Amino acid sequence: MRGPKHFDHSVRKGIRLTDYERFLGADARALKELFPAGPARLWGATPPAPKKSEKATAVAGRRVGDEVLFYADRKFVARARILGLFHNQALAEAIWGVDEKQCTWEHIMALGDVVEFDVPAQPLFEGLGLGDVLRSLTLVSAENRARFLHLVDPSAPVSPGRNAPSPGRGTALRRDDVFHALSSLKTHTKDRRPSRHKPITLLWAIGRLAVEQDRMVEWQTFHDEVGPLLRDFGLPESRVTPEYPFWHLRSSGLWDVQGMEDQNATPTPSELTAARASAGLHKDAAKVLRRSLARADAVGLICSKYLGDVDREEVLERVGLAGYASASGELPDGGRGDGTVRRRSGTSTQLDRDSRLVEKIKVMYEHACQVCGSRVETRYSHYSEAAHIRGLGRPHNGPDQLSNLLCLCPNHHVEFDRLAIYIDEDWAVRRNATGAVDYQLKRHADHVIEQKYLRYHRGLCGRL
Ligand SMILES: [Zn+2]
Repeated sequence: MRGPKHFDHSVRKGIRLTDYERFLGADARALKELFPAGPARLWGATPPAPKKSEKATAVAGRRVGDEVLFYADRKFVARARILGLFHNQALAEAIWGVDEKQCTWEHIMALGDVVEFDVPAQPLFEGLGLGDVLRSLTLVSAENRARFLHLVDPSAPVSPGRNAPSPGRGTALRRDDVFHALSSLKTHTKDRRPSRHKPITLLWAIGRLAVEQDRMVEWQTFHDEVGPLLRDFGLPESRVTPEYPFWHLRSSGLWDVQGMEDQNATPTPSELTAARASAGLHKDAAKVLRRSLARADAVGLICSKYLGDVDREEVLERVGLAGYASASGELPDGGRGDGTVRRRSGTSTQLDRDSRLVEKIKVMYEHACQVCGSRVETRYSHYSEAAHIRGLGRPHNGPDQLSNLLCLCPNHHVEFDRLAIYIDEDWAVRRNATGAVDYQLKRHADHVIEQKYLRYHRGLCGRL
């Protein structure tokens, strides 16, 4: 049994990069950035053969942010998140040697903190809809993570719905279904780029819920509202065909069309007009997405997964979800990109925040940023900013209390607010674009930070 030994050596304990300096090659810098201080947690997969096997698909499908599950004796015994992917045969051989076929574990994964547990594998395979053929490399995608954590540990504080006001079990399940559907939208691809019609339409539909409009909309209104969005935010070369998402979003299981018989071909706009067809989110999906926590998660997920190249602030503003573009919520007038991210004191829109709390957190950290540790010097003192983790304003409506506050330097305040960085359950400060660890959050012994607020922020980041 090589697995447990390797696990103990290179994952649980982790290796010292300096011991393998001459094997790191071109990966040296990236690995050192991922593991600046302590041991490096590495795991690998042997080259898949044949090339089109299930394993080949799994190896090629690994993504930063996915969770790797460790399997032993019909159980899953640990999990860790992928921070980086490397292909390095020399390093793999140096760490793990070769197997009986003279292969080594050269498809290397750099891993985040390891959480060990002990759960039977079969229910997990079923619960996540995974094939159990590939126990040696079981992955849970970032979108499925919340669902998975709940299966591993139903009391986990980070599970979906856990922080919502008293969700019943049935509700939590329906929420999972909605999120599963949102994360597995079938989109047409053109030149290998997925069409944005469906995600844009879903954002528009969620925007309607946010202002308590009806979920169902007649075709003509849909055409007039969604058409311009597809034109402005769809792929540049893609045609503006609102009838396409109007009709085909049904396959997501999240969408209803009324007034039109089922048919294979996409109905033409004139057919939809003649039938006075209407469409909108399915009532169960709408029920879930009317809740503010779920809505923040859904907006974060859709933007990150499908609209990575689109200006998030612009598209969210157009669909009436402007506040979801930042952690603090509503931006001041003309506040885009000019540095005036937050409201300053003295304006009429100033939110009523408790200045004593602001003072308290700054004093507690002596103005040192909890992310980078730096203190901005002023002529007579120092300067820092108190950042709410879950914004005070609409639509986030976070509480004004110490457990929802961070002391940050201006740069990290902007990055946190604009969702460029987020904080993981293990207090690692990660870059949202890559998932790479930038810093460990510094925490004062007297400062209790509530995980549920960090989790809310991660939802906005599309990092459930
Ligand atoms: Zn900082």
